[in-house]
This record gives sequence, structure tokens and C-alpha cells, in this order.
Amino acid sequence: MTGCDRFDREHLWHPYTSTSDPLPVYKADRAEGCEIILEDGTRLVDGMSSWWCAIHGYNHPVLNAAAEAQLGKMSHVMFGGLTHEPAVELGKLLLKTAPPSMDKIFYADSGSVAVEVAMKMAVQYNFAAGKPQKTNFVTIRRGYHGDTWNAMSVCDPVTGMHSLFGSALPVRHFVPAPESRFDGEWIENDILPLQETIEKHHGELAALILEPVVQGAGGMRFYHPEYLRKAAALCREYDMLLVFDEIATGFGRTGKFFAWEHAGVEPDIMCIGKALTGGYMTFSAVLASSKVADTISAHEPHSFMHGPTFMGNPLACAVARASTELLLASDWQGRVRAIEAQLKEELAPAAGLPSVNDVRVLGAIGVIEVKRPVDMAFMQKRFVEEGVWVRPFGKLVYVMPPYIISPEQLSKLTSALVKIAGELC
Ligand SMILES: *Cc1c(COP(=O)(O)O)cnc(C)c1O
Repeated sequence: MTGCDRFDREHLWHPYTSTSDPLPVYKADRAEGCEIILEDGTRLVDGMSSWWCAIHGYNHPVLNAAAEAQLGKMSHVMFGGLTHEPAVELGKLLLKTAPPSMDKIFYADSGSVAVEVAMKMAVQYNFAAGKPQKTNFVTIRRGYHGDTWNAMSVCDPVTGMHSLFGSALPVRHFVPAPESRFDGEWIENDILPLQETIEKHHGELAALILEPVVQGAGGMRFYHPEYLRKAAALCREYDMLLVFDEIATGFGRTGKFFAWEHAGVEPDIMCIGKALTGGYMTFSAVLASSKVADTISAHEPHSFMHGPTFMGNPLACAVARASTELLLASDWQGRVRAIEAQLKEELAPAAGLPSVNDVRVLGAIGVIEVKRPVDMAFMQKRFVEEGVWVRPFGKLVYVMPPYIISPEQLSKLTSALVKIAGELC
């Protein structure tokens, strides 16, 4: 172990692992295209896009150039009292790609902060609209919305951290996640639990918050778009806002630019993040309808009460603009469709394995759900031996590669997935 690795082991916290007996980490030296290159020269085909972010792959000349050009002008200025071209130009692009009802943009620091902002916005909207008792939220189980306090409060209460933080967390209303699969029949009863909860509690509910169509880190589930149409109708009927968390699903991942398009229902507030900067740095945005923004602005204190230090960071805006332009100028739909077709074909054999419960693919997301929780350290090691970077969690072994992945690289990923799933008992 080199001195540097020892320091890491002794002093650096990594996500969801012990500090006294941490899971092993691999030392990345560089990344380019669709590969992560370890210090010892091992090249790994990336199956994770660094958690949904690096849609164009790594070390992209266009994104590098955008970052360097902006760095030479200013990497940051405060957004209070100042504005700048990167924020304005990115905003124009986002409104062009967002649901038509979205009209106002709040730039924030990370996905979790975007969720905090969206929830505050929903509460402040209701306060401004003369409904100060509407302060709570309803959501569906199996969701994931981030690790900060309020975001955590609407994560799945079982796979989330409610047992640990339970009594310190605000208590939200949870209904079962939809059972109707994305590509299956719509089950009429699927909406009943949400309907009953809303009928009973709408007086205290500011909003429904959920991930449209794809539930990411809470279970990698793909559900029927009809659920969103029914849910949106309930929100309208009971005077609640609809908040879509598109932090994972945005920027083409599900085959549509944003996942709401699968259902054709528009939210009042929408969170985006992750792939927004193409994986270059942390950044997010909360989009809102003018109804939400105007109502908040019409009432004391005539402003939305949030304003992070790094709001609208010019460097992040410039890279996000370059990444979004690059995506829009590419044949991303063709790329995602091709990845989807290849994932469907090449992951299908896993469905016959005794260790496997379910295989599902949507857009550039492929999931093998196994029957028993995996040994993460063992699996990670096996994947590295096979020359791929895949990080399973719980019973889920899944990939969401950069869109630039070649068919050969994707085959390397899928064959490693099927092979290693076959080694599980
Ligand atoms: C990752 C994620 C978040 C949290 O984003 P961070 O940038 O990790 O704070 C929120 N919602 C969804 C759907 C996510 O996938």
C-alpha cells in the first residue's frame, strides 16, 4: 500500500462505508472517453457514468475548452446583484428543453440541495397562496431524492435512512410504489393508495414529489406513465403542487430528453442535476412555473427565501451550457435507442440464471435484479478483473453508461454482468 492509499484508508470518508474497516477503493489516475484508468494502468470500461453524470464520457475536449475559457474570465462571482452570460445562456437552453410550463430557474449546488429548494418552494408557495397549513408532502415508496435532511425525509423509508434518523426526520406520507411496469399493462388499482392518502390528508399537503417513470437509487424501477397522469389529475383536483425529481432521469437517459415526456404531464416544479454539467462538477437547478414564482413573489417577503453562496456559479453554468449544447447537437436519441436495443439483447440471457429475479432495460439503463443482496467488495473486484467499472448495491447490478460508449465496450460490460451474475448463487 502506498503512503497515499494509507492516508485515504485512515482519514478519508468514502460513501456508505466504514472508516475503521472500509470497503476497498481503487485508485483512479485518469479517465478519458468511456474508460477510467487506474494508477496501475488497468483500463476499465465505465458502466456507471459516475452515478448518471458523465453522459459524454470523460475528459471531453469540448467541455474542457468550455471550462478553460470560463476559467480565464472568472470562475465565480456572487449571484446577488450580479448576473453573467453563462447563467443567461444556460437558462435559455434549459427552458427550451424543459416542459413548456416551466418559466423560472433557480440554480443550486447539488441534487439534494435542489430537492431542498423545491420543497421549500412548495411550502412557501402555499404560504403565499393563503394556505399556510399545507406544509407536508406525499411521495411513493422506493424513491430516492438525496441525502440532506428534507430530501432524506422523502426517500424510501426502508432502503433510506429512516430507521437511523427516524424521530429526527419530518414525517411524510408514503404510498406503495406503482406496480404497473413501464412496458406492461396499466393496473387500474395502482393509483388507489395515492388517491386515498390525498383524499384524507390534502389539507396539510403542499405537494406530491416523485421521480417520473424511473425510480433510481431507491430500487431502479421503471413504472407505467399512466401513474403520472392519474397522479397529476389528483394534484390538480386537491390543490397540490406536483414536483418531479428529474435529477437522474434528465438529459436523455430514459430515451426522452426528460422523463415527464413519457407521460405528457407537466410538473409545477422540477429538479435537475447530475448530467447537467456532463459530470464535470456539482450543479443543479430547480425549474418552476410562473404560477409558483409569481405567487411567492406577490406575498411578503416578495422573494423566495433561499440563496446559496455558489448560486449560478459561472464555471458550472459554462460547462453545463457546453454539455447541453453538445448533447442537443448529437444524435442522442439514436445513441440511447441503440444502447437500449443492445442492452435488451445482451442482458436477456441473465433472466434464465438461477440467481436472477428480473432483468429490465429502459433507455440507456440496464438492470439485473438478483435474488440476494450482493457482496459489494467481491463483486467490485470481479468486475475490475473483467475490465469494467460497475458498482452494484443491494440486489441491483446495473449499468447506465456514457452515451458515447461503443458497441464493443458495451458488449464488454454486458458480458461481464451476465458472467458475474452467473457466478452468484
Ligand atoms: C442523485 C439524486 C439526488 C441527489 O443528488 P446529489 O447531487 O447526490 O445531492 C436526488 N434525486 C435523485 C433522483 C437522484 O438520483
